[in-house]
Amino acid sequence: MQLVSLISLVFVAASVACPLTPRNSTVQVSQRTVGPQHRWAHHFNNEQQTFYKWPANENGVSDIKYCFHDGETLLAVRHQVERAWGIWKDALGGDWGSHNGHRLDFHELKQDAGWSQTCYKYEGRKGWKEWNPDVPADTLEIRLTTTDTPVRHMFTSYAYTPPQFIDVKKGTNNHMQIVRDAYDWEIAHELGHVLGLDHEHQRPDRNFNVYFNCEALAGYAEVKRLANDDGIEMGDVCENHELWDKYKDRAPLFMPNDFATDMFPWEITSGSYDPYSIMHYYSSTYAQRNNECVHELDKTACPLMKYRTGELGPNAPMDYITPNKKPSLRDIEGIKALYKWGSVD
Ligand SMILES: [Zn+2]
Repeated sequence: MQLVSLISLVFVAASVACPLTPRNSTVQVSQRTVGPQHRWAHHFNNEQQTFYKWPANENGVSDIKYCFHDGETLLAVRHQVERAWGIWKDALGGDWGSHNGHRLDFHELKQDAGWSQTCYKYEGRKGWKEWNPDVPADTLEIRLTTTDTPVRHMFTSYAYTPPQFIDVKKGTNNHMQIVRDAYDWEIAHELGHVLGLDHEHQRPDRNFNVYFNCEALAGYAEVKRLANDDGIEMGDVCENHELWDKYKDRAPLFMPNDFATDMFPWEITSGSYDPYSIMHYYSSTYAQRNNECVHELDKTACPLMKYRTGELGPNAPMDYITPNKKPSLRDIEGIKALYKWGSVD
């Protein structure tokens, strides 16, 4: 059984792509120089009012409250979640306040007596469960991926969803779904999404910095067979969201949408491309031939490789991308701009 290590973000987007060659249309993006506050901030409070930052409380602190889906989840991942926040807190310089320049905090929701409150309550006799009425609807729900799959499925809602847009029954609440044996830094990556960060490798200028090889993705060959039967080119499946949609149920491992550089209807800019961002995938993420890629035996087995020089394309000199296990300096700049101490929006 293949072991594919992956981190993923559930994201509602109109289009998806996996471009095999750089696109001229993205050149301008890398040449712009704007402050870190523009890097992610304009995802928030946009015209559709879909994305919001975690709101500040009366003390000016965005104190993100989370609950575990149930007792099993709590026992399984509580400590990892706490340590993952510790990774962010250390990188932020410590607690919120003027001395560290940010307003973030992260706490498990508890009753006054200090007992944990799980997000859901069980009604054992009836055999169903419901959202705990004592838990505010906008609390971040920590869920476990319980299905047995060869991939490490993790899903996180993006930034903050206010109560008026939440339908718990449809799962549209704030949530972070992780695997039982997730590494702390994997959860820290997911927390980056919770705070409002996108994947660095999905920036529009990605193809000028990193080589993306769609063929190396898990499930590629399977989808290629299906596409061939339909007379569809794989290059199109990699680049076209509707085509990818057509196969995703039959080949759920194939995830080109997590590499698409044109998914986001807004610009992700400012600063140069940052391969050290905790929001950047590493070379073997979603690799079909994981071992060959992880052990650097065959670079063609790696979906992502970092260009070493200005040369581009499959034959250019490339370096392996190792997992980034803590936020980069620019991750922290961006977060401190989004959640600047003294700001409330
Ligand atoms: Zn992610």
